[in-house]
Amino acid sequence: MKRELGIARCGLACCLCSENAVCRGCRRDGFLELSWCADAGWCENRRCGIEKNLNGCFECVPAACRKGLYAEKIKPQAFAEFARRYGTEELLDCLERNEQAGIVYHREGIQGDYDDFDDLEELIRFIRMGKR
Ligand code: SF4
Ligand code: SF4
Repeated sequence: MKRELGIARCGLACCLCSENAVCRGCRRDGFLELSWCADAGWCENRRCGIEKNLNGCFECVPAACRKGLYAEKIKPQAFAEFARRYGTEELLDCLERNEQAGIVYHREGIQGDYDDFDDLEELIRFIRMGKR
């Protein structure tokens, strides 16, 4: 885990992303040449958060939002909602503990142990407890 890369604007875990050998996420604006999240150019969540002058969707209402990634994917939404409730440091602490316990963020491509959920609260509980 590259803890220093932290949590992305959308809630996804740049610190654990399989792309993080080269990608620096989208938190540093105006550094396209440094390799961004592949989605940064068109990402609605990124654009919206910047417009609202927020550090990320976790400072907004991710659980009630259906923009961009949140229209289809529960993972970023649950991660952002977790960070809204408990803070990004607590999220990083839980992800680090879970990683040490063998829970894998990206097992194949960008799919891993946090992707097999269709209920927001269940995924939040899994992040917190490290078990289903
Ligand atoms: S560009 Fe969008 S999808 Fe990529 S890390 Fe940023 S907020 Fe998340
Ligand atoms: S939660 Fe939704 S409305 Fe709030 S900043 Fe993120 S994308 Fe925009």
